Amino acid sequence: MGEISREEKLRSIAAKRYLGETSQESLALKNRPDHFPELDYFLSLLEGDLSPQRVAERVQKPLVALMCLQAPLELFHALGFHPFKIFGGSVVTTRLSSPVLPPVMCPMLRSALGALMLDRSGEDGNSPWKAWVAPTTCDWVVKLDDLLELCGIKNGCPSHRLELPHLKDRPESQERWLEEIYALKKFLLGVIGQKKLAAKDLQRSMEVYQKAFKAFSALIDLKRAGKISLAYFLAIANSFFFAGIEEWTENLKKILPKLKEEKPRQGPKVFLAGSPIFFPNLKMPHLLEEAGLVVVMDDLCSSERLFPGAAFFDDLSEHGLLKALAQRYHQGCLCPTFADNDRRVNNIIAPAHKDLYLGVVFHVLKGCHPFDLESLSLEPKLKDEGLKFIKLETDYTAEDSGTLLTRLEAFRSSLAN
Ligand code: SF4
Repeated sequence: MGEISREEKLRSIAAKRYLGETSQESLALKNRPDHFPELDYFLSLLEGDLSPQRVAERVQKPLVALMCLQAPLELFHALGFHPFKIFGGSVVTTRLSSPVLPPVMCPMLRSALGALMLDRSGEDGNSPWKAWVAPTTCDWVVKLDDLLELCGIKNGCPSHRLELPHLKDRPESQERWLEEIYALKKFLLGVIGQKKLAAKDLQRSMEVYQKAFKAFSALIDLKRAGKISLAYFLAIANSFFFAGIEEWTENLKKILPKLKEEKPRQGPKVFLAGSPIFFPNLKMPHLLEEAGLVVVMDDLCSSERLFPGAAFFDDLSEHGLLKALAQRYHQGCLCPTFADNDRRVNNIIAPAHKDLYLGVVFHVLKGCHPFDLESLSLEPKLKDEGLKFIKLETDYTAEDSGTLLTRLEAFRSSLAN
């Protein structure tokens, strides 16, 4: 009994600190000199309570928890769900899950699991989660059920695995992935007790996402021109799952004219690659800025790679639409967990991109093995192309900030030579 009340006490302290952490980072973003009021919509989505209940109340739809971005978001939307990508950028929640998890483990997942440990919504039978969907990407995600068990998290709702073919250029893999998308559709229909998905509904949802992608592409263009800081860009991308897509897109369209008027940021331009960065852990964007580096392009799945691109279609049958989605999400994904993924390096060194920046900053979260491994093969290829390269390995704590800043400042000087 004593042990339980101690756990409860720790949980309540952590919940308060988590609220404080998100509010503090949001306030810091509001106090920047380049802040303007239209950004507050996105910052308000990220501040304070980030619980799934709050999201469900806002979007007025049942939530499906999603690990990684390979499952077509349009499919969830067409069936009346709000897909919510499970992520974690909080150092507070990292501390909550750490005692029961392996010592060297991806801090992003550690943080996400800690946040789920704080979530008590399932206990009164009113959980906002209607289902869980996990594509088999990196080993940590593959072992998700074990991790949930270690953390004492019971999702209490149906869950589904998407077996991701890791050799994506093979036609057999593409066929297998289409079968996985069909299986996901069947699973989601089962959750809502329906037998059929109307092709018209899916087409409508694909059009909704096309509009969002168009607005997001315009934001990316402004980043290329140095007109938005990485911190604000990330805040906008990270807020994506906290609101309905239609509302988020409309608010994104509102800030574009304002950003066009901004003066381009001055400083050596760089490409940011590697492990994802999530609010409120904006340590790396702040350090890059402090070192005087301007990030004009990135390939983070929490940032520019939020969308694998828009899914275009001319076959309006259900099969035609599902095939278009399967292709887009499989072929467009740049996750390093694919074995044949030259597109990641080609994305950086493509002639249309390479002239935009002088060097590549490679961000690796300790315990994130796919990106750590990839950095080793990427470095010589980039150097052959005349691009400077720096790898920064870090976690969610602030202790290494001084060292990281010194290294980034030295990197900045090397870009001038
Ligand atoms: S790819 Fe890296 S950041 Fe993403 S879940 Fe796996 S270990 Fe974590």
